Amino acid sequence: MSIDKQTRLKDMPIYLDCNATTPLAPEVKSYLVDFYATEVGNPGSRTHIFGQRAKQIVQNARRQISKVIECQPSEVVFTSGATESNNLALLGLMNFGRKVNKRHVISTHIEHKSILEPLKILEKNGFEISLLSASKSGYVDPDELKMQLREDTLCVSIMHVNNETGIIQPIECIATHLNGSEAIFHVDASQGFGKHIPPLKNKRIDLISISSHKIYGPTGVGALISRLRNGSRLPIEPLIHGGDQEWGLRSGSLPTALIAAFGIAAEISERDFVKRFERCKYIQELAIRNLSQIGAIFHGDHNALLPNVINFSIPGIDSEALMIILKEEIAISNGSACNSSSYTASHVLSNMGLDEDALHGSVRASWCYMTPDINWENIVGLIKQIKSE
Ligand code: PMP
Repeated sequence: MSIDKQTRLKDMPIYLDCNATTPLAPEVKSYLVDFYATEVGNPGSRTHIFGQRAKQIVQNARRQISKVIECQPSEVVFTSGATESNNLALLGLMNFGRKVNKRHVISTHIEHKSILEPLKILEKNGFEISLLSASKSGYVDPDELKMQLREDTLCVSIMHVNNETGIIQPIECIATHLNGSEAIFHVDASQGFGKHIPPLKNKRIDLISISSHKIYGPTGVGALISRLRNGSRLPIEPLIHGGDQEWGLRSGSLPTALIAAFGIAAEISERDFVKRFERCKYIQELAIRNLSQIGAIFHGDHNALLPNVINFSIPGIDSEALMIILKEEIAISNGSACNSSSYTASHVLSNMGLDEDALHGSVRASWCYMTPDINWENIVGLIKQIKSE
């Protein structure tokens, strides 16, 4: 069934949910169309040119991604996305933790569910989990982490950028605190990879989860960057067994087209960084200026905010009412996409200590460099209307 292009082009609101997923970059889209029209071959097929070509394509993507993070290509383990990478990082370490009697894990209350749920599994299996809280600023305190660190801390897992607020966590400072500790440091960089790279280059970070569909690549592919320690692989066990692809860490035929597109998206994220940053910042400044006029409250510290997102509430207006009144103009969300089918107040904002009104009124708007100009006059007018009702 084809999608009705007319409906798509006419009457659609502006998409402001790029933290849930970004549109494909034009270069990525045309690569994929070309690829599916012309290429065939499984990178695991050793016996013919088609397999060898596919393998080269995958190796090239590995190089492109490793270059962005400054790791080795062999440290890039392809997965289906950041959810899988997070599960692999945490649950993959379970048996090692048991073996060496290290059963303590430190993370935060504001992680994505793909961290919090595996942590619950670890807990059920006898691990002790310490969760750090975020302050009103939206980030956790590295000194609190230092105090929680123990001899038997197996792993520290801290997100890079929060998906609901866009607030950057103090990853580099945490990495410094971890010097001298054996704990494995995992960073869920789903929202920051391709947008805020410097902290991810820190060699103290052992594991990094990244996802293609947050950086204008296709959905269904991501990676776990797994840095070697003293030349050896970390003691992670696979969750998916079979053909031993990806050094035995993730079996299953590699999706060559998706991986190649992810590689291109990663390379472009570096090449076009300034252009993208400036366009996003411009949209953010207009958003803040216009929403401030009608008394919006912005959640989290502006100085630690990525330029492609704001989380805000308008006092006295419920988030559902706000989304409904604005739905012809802009597509925004309350809560993260993984939970948005059933609304419950955000665990992130609640951990940051927002009051009830702000908690139930908060919405996230997230855009990208392709986002067209937003009609703020209409939006402000519509919000004023419900305020006066
Ligand atoms: N972690 C964070 C912080 C995210 O924002 C997301 C996506 N919402 C994920 C993990 C899961 O990523 P994926 O959709 O690639 O599984």
